[in-house]
Amino acid sequence: MSKVAVVTGGTRGIGEAICVGLKAAGYQVAANYAGNDEKAQAFTERSGIPVYKFDVSNLAACQQGIAQIGQDLGPVAIAVNNAGITRDGTIHRMDQEDWQSVIDTNLGGCFNICRCVIAGMRERSFGRIVNIGSINGQAGQYGQVNYAAAKSGIHGFTKALAQEGAGKGITVNAIAPGYVDTDMVRAVPDNILEKIIAQIPVGRLGRAEDIARGVLFLVADDADFITGSTLSINGGQHMY
Ligand code: NAP
Repeated sequence: MSKVAVVTGGTRGIGEAICVGLKAAGYQVAANYAGNDEKAQAFTERSGIPVYKFDVSNLAACQQGIAQIGQDLGPVAIAVNNAGITRDGTIHRMDQEDWQSVIDTNLGGCFNICRCVIAGMRERSFGRIVNIGSINGQAGQYGQVNYAAAKSGIHGFTKALAQEGAGKGITVNAIAPGYVDTDMVRAVPDNILEKIIAQIPVGRLGRAEDIARGVLFLVADDADFITGSTLSINGGQHMY
């Protein structure tokens, strides 16, 4: 049987490309999403990949969702923590809810999913975890104390969990994407986006497939010596 991979936020943007890439590579894929049923249904129609609706910021919901995926497809061997949101604003205007929801989804979601899958991975002595961080977690970004803190947290989380998994056949790595052409980046005003593209040496936004390529590299069976690392995929915008 081919290995089961769960991708959070797998129905749109970067997550969709990761799901499609994993399926093409022969994995059984489960795509999670939060609430956009229309996009999720269209994704399944396009890709043939089943979707699972649950909120990654809620541990009980993750436990139920991962149990359902286990029943439907088999035990999870690969977890890609990709679900993320932005609630941008300078700190003097940011309310506590915008801080908390970004921390709970982007960083808490990563804890919740790992907490649900790690015991099975330890028992089976195999696991591949890839956490999607961000260039803005590495470099910071104006108007994003919440997002930068959560993403920076992901990079520390990755290194700590990599140490815990290393003796058990579990690798844990992060990818730090630069600016990628998805709904998230399309929400950035055009004048700001032009300035961002001007700072990318490769001269374009990333494509979701550019990030999926990194995930496929990190989850391979023979990538077992790569753990605790962060792969920056950003067109040369930030060399870290
Ligand atoms: P996107 O197009 O906005 O898609 C976000 C996905 O996450 C959707 O499938 C969404 O589900 C899901 N999601 C959001 N909150 C969730 C929750 N609480 N529980 C479960 N699923 C949830 O995002 P993207 O641009 O592809 O970004 C994917 C990841 O890459 C994020 O972690 C983001 O921070 C990171 N990243 C993106 C960029 C970029 O330039 N785009 C750069 C660096 C890092 P619904 O459709 O149901 O809402």
